[in-house]
Amino acid sequence: MAYYDDLTKDNDKLKCTLCMDIIPGNKTYIEEHLNSDNHKDRILQRLLITNGMVIYHNDMHCLLCNEKNLQLSVGPHILSSCHQKHLEQIKVLVEADGSFIELPNDLNSNKVHCLICDDYFAFKMCDIEDHIKRNTHRRTRAIAVQPLNGIFSVNCSDGDLWCKICPTYFENYIECIFEHVDNNKKHKMELGKLLRLVEGQNINIEKYLIDPSEDKAMCEKCDTKVPCNLDNLERHIKGERHRK
Ligand SMILES: [Zn+2]
Ligand SMILES: [Zn+2]
Ligand SMILES: [Zn+2]
Ligand SMILES: [Zn+2]
Ligand SMILES: [Zn+2]
Repeated sequence: MAYYDDLTKDNDKLKCTLCMDIIPGNKTYIEEHLNSDNHKDRILQRLLITNGMVIYHNDMHCLLCNEKNLQLSVGPHILSSCHQKHLEQIKVLVEADGSFIELPNDLNSNKVHCLICDDYFAFKMCDIEDHIKRNTHRRTRAIAVQPLNGIFSVNCSDGDLWCKICPTYFENYIECIFEHVDNNKKHKMELGKLLRLVEGQNINIEKYLIDPSEDKAMCEKCDTKVPCNLDNLERHIKGERHRK
């Protein structure tokens, strides 16, 4: 239940990650905490932050919709189709960029955070678009996508790149990298199949993706290496040893 999502076990103690309070693990105390003004206020603050609502000159503004004077209609505004559409557009944009940009998700900051540039900016469509278009972000992203996509430089030179997934060579230009990881249908399909196959199976393909000489995946469940291709992985996952 969403109601309890903020409570986690921390060394046998129950902790509210929203308030950072330790709660004695007794049902009455839990209910008391969840109903406290402090906890409810933090839930409201988080709802405002994750929806781009800011208080400015004693007035509530929505950064996503660029609307003012929302003091009395915050709830209906957040639920409105217009606001939800703006939020959705931002999420689509961030996902298409590779999800390196983190939208405000807790009480610590109401800014958007680009994890790869370590840059903070306002929770607005135009600011996010500007950041994504910037050369510094594009260069950083071109480097960040490589280990996630099985892409390596050839013989440590800057000349060509090699994609282990496809496998194919292409030129080491930002445009070519983005073209390959964002638009190349074969690449997206093959990588997608591989990621979906190992998902939830406790099989680690990180080393395969970042080490050019590694051709195996690590099954942590069986503590064994498996040749990292769809056929072998599928056979391993369906095998007796792994299903035990
Ligand atoms: Zn709390
Ligand atoms: Zn809005
Ligand atoms: Zn960035
Ligand atoms: Zn590829
Ligand atoms: Zn296994």
